[in-house]
Amino acid sequence: MRVLITGAAGFLGSHLSERFLDDGHEVIGVDNFITGSKDNTAYLAGFEGFSLIEHDISESLFIDEDIDGVLHFASPASPVDYLELPIQTLKVGSLGTHNALGLAMAKGARFLLASTSEVYGDPLIHPQPETYWGHVNPVGSRGVYDEAKRFAEAMTMAYHRYHGVETRIVRIFNTFGPRMRPGDGRVVSNFIVQALRGDPLTVYGDGSQTRSFCYVKDEVEGIYRLFHQNERAEPVNIGNPVEFTIQELADIVIEETGSSSVIERMPLPDDDPKVRQPDITLARKLLDWEPQVDLREGIQKTIPHFRSEIERHDAQARTIE
Ligand code: NAD
Ligand code: UDP
Repeated sequence: MRVLITGAAGFLGSHLSERFLDDGHEVIGVDNFITGSKDNTAYLAGFEGFSLIEHDISESLFIDEDIDGVLHFASPASPVDYLELPIQTLKVGSLGTHNALGLAMAKGARFLLASTSEVYGDPLIHPQPETYWGHVNPVGSRGVYDEAKRFAEAMTMAYHRYHGVETRIVRIFNTFGPRMRPGDGRVVSNFIVQALRGDPLTVYGDGSQTRSFCYVKDEVEGIYRLFHQNERAEPVNIGNPVEFTIQELADIVIEETGSSSVIERMPLPDDDPKVRQPDITLARKLLDWEPQVDLREGIQKTIPHFRSEIERHDAQARTIE
């Protein structure tokens, strides 16, 4: 198979590309590096089946080769990134999804959309099943991401119903692991970097808000299986259903890094969801899939990545001095 993955230089896109390459498939990566890293694609370039097109998918893309699958992962994903890049986020969720769907239709390829638990917003139903329509503030600051993804889901279903494109939609819940950028602003990367540097861990609000964290290898395996199954075009939740408060996450990071960092309370961002936990009944049944790595083990596997990123960053800073 030859698949095209937008956002291939990003955290999830690079792991997903590697999953396809490991199985002997060809991957064409598309990325404009707005939040991605050239290191991730340099690493993928070691695979014979990988090629890269530097392109903004919010603009049309024409490809000569036959393609069997288009997987649309391009989008700023960290709240810090999408609040800094609101228009680009709305464009890649709307125009970018339209372009990626158009490409899939032209090639007769299967399409998979990387959607998000953010379509549930600040949820009033807990845990969240796929049947929940969500509770999103369309004009709040997070609306640029949440509504772009909700539009992307609607566009994907329209291409499925009207044009007959084979579609898959994954609603991804908070995922972490190696290859996240140290400065991407998400909670796991922030806490591990702060703990390794001995800086205070910045807990927003009182730390009682919850998230359910999935290790990247588990997440990618679920997405890979979802892409290949032949039963369901509509959304499927993929995430780890074990829920933690942000304070509990901070405690685990401090323990696993052996850090002497303290906690620093900061204001809670606008519209920050109070709880989030996937109902994965459907994924279990449809994909025979279940996360294998718990939060503590995932944090242990992730710490070495951030340690080497910090060392590299500090070495570069010394060279510049
Ligand atoms: P990331 O920021 O690491 O990767 C996103 C990639 O998309 C980057 O390489 C970026 O340069 C690229 N990109 C952005 N806009 C682009 C454009 N217009 N054209 C081409 N490339 C563009 O983020 P991630 O965590 O890897 O997230 C990947 C996808 O998964 C996103 O669509 C995100 O919404 C979704 N998702 C991720 C999570 C998570 O916890 N990581 C949760 C829910 C959904
Ligand atoms: N958070 C925090 N400290 C940080 C970064 C984030 O307490 O340094 C909190 C944030 O307010 C949210 C949770 O951690 O409640 C998860 O934030 P993240 O940005 O990782 O992703 P989100 O799930 O909000 O999209």
